[in-house]
Amino acid sequence: MATVYREGNVELLSGKVAVLGYGSQGHAHALNLRDSGVEVEVGLREGSSSWAAAEDAGLTVRTFPEAVRGAQLVAILLPDHVQKGVYERDVAPNLGPDAAVLFAHGFNVHFEQIQPEPGHDVIMVAPKGPGHRVRQLFEAGAGTPGLVAVAQDASGGAFDLAVAYGTAIGCGRAGMIATTFAEETESDLFGEQAVLCGGVCALMQAGFETLVDAGYAPEIAYYECINEMKLIVDLIYEGGFGHMRDSISDVAEYGDLTRGQVVIDEHVRTTMRQLLEDIRNGSFARELIAEEEAGRPRMTALRRMAARHPVEAVGSELRELAGREGLLGAEAHVRS
Ligand code: NAD
Ligand code: MG
Repeated sequence: MATVYREGNVELLSGKVAVLGYGSQGHAHALNLRDSGVEVEVGLREGSSSWAAAEDAGLTVRTFPEAVRGAQLVAILLPDHVQKGVYERDVAPNLGPDAAVLFAHGFNVHFEQIQPEPGHDVIMVAPKGPGHRVRQLFEAGAGTPGLVAVAQDASGGAFDLAVAYGTAIGCGRAGMIATTFAEETESDLFGEQAVLCGGVCALMQAGFETLVDAGYAPEIAYYECINEMKLIVDLIYEGGFGHMRDSISDVAEYGDLTRGQVVIDEHVRTTMRQLLEDIRNGSFARELIAEEEAGRPRMTALRRMAARHPVEAVGSELRELAGREGLLGAEAHVRS
C-alpha cells in the first residue's frame, strides 16, 4: 500500500496564497484555504465574470500580477491550455524569489510548457474530484482524496508544503498519496483517453450502432447500451465488480464473464499500449499543443460531428419523454 498522508502542518502556509482562477478547482481551494485560516487572494483577469462571485464569497480579488506579488505560494488553477500564457505574462515577472508554484494537474510542467526558475518550489496537489465536491465535502467536515507531488524542491521543504496545502483544502481528511508529475499526468491522460471518456463513449456508441444497424429500435438500443451504463457503474463504485455481478442476473453475469474479454481483446490491449506510448513519448502532448495553437480546427469539427450523431437526438427524446420514471424503469430491469 502507498503511504497515505493525513495531516500536514498548515502553519507552513504563513504568508499569502494567490489562487489564480475561480472556476471548478479555484473557488474550492480559495474558500477552503480561507476557512483553514490561510491568507488568500484570488487572482483573475480584469473583467472576469467570476470577480463578483469571489467578492460576494468574502474573498479579496486582484488582477493576476497583483495577486502574485508578495505571495508565498501561487496556485495556478486556470484551464490547462491558458496556463502557459498567463504564467509567462503575469506570473513569472511578479513572482517573489522564494515563492512556490502549485498546480492541480501536471500537464504543463511535465511537458515543459511551464518551467519555473530553479529558485522556486514546484508542487502539485490534485484533488481526485471536481471542485464542487472539494468544497461540499470540506463544508460537511469531510474531504476529497488527493495526490501530492514535487517537481522542483528549491527550499528543501517542498513536499511538506504540498501536504500542508492539501491539508488546508481538506484532502488530508480523506488521505493524500504521493506521486510524481509524470505519473499523475500520464495516468490521467491514459485514463481519460482509453477508459473514462474516449473508451467508454466509443464502446457505448458502437453498441448502440450495432443494434440500430441490425434493425432494433434506437430507443431500445439507447436504453441497453447507454442509459444503463450508470446503473452498472454505480454498483461497481459501491462495491467493486463482484458486488455488481451479485446484483445482475446469472444470465447477465455469464454473458459478462464469457464475452467481455472477446470485445476487449488483445487487439484493443495493443491499441491501449500504443495510446500510452504516445502519451509517454510526448506525441499526444505535441499534437494537442499544435491543435491549440492553430485555434482548435480539429476539435471544433469533431465536436460538431459528435453533436449531430443520432445517439444525441434519441437520448434527448428519451429524457424528455420518460424523465425520471424511465430511469427508474431501467434500474428495475437491471436488478431483476
Ligand atoms: P476551469 O475551467 O473551471 O477554469 C478556471 C478559471 O480560470 C475560470 O473560472 C476563470 O476564472 C479562469 N479562466 C478561464 N479562461 C481563462 C483565460 N482565457 N484567461 C485567464 N483566466 C481564465 O478550470 P478547472 O477545471 O478548475 O481546472 C483548473 C486546474 O485544475 C487544471 O489544471 C485542471 O487540470 C485541474 N483539475 C481540475 C479538476 C476538475 O474536476 N475540474 C480536477 C482535478 C484537477
Ligand atoms: Mg483527468
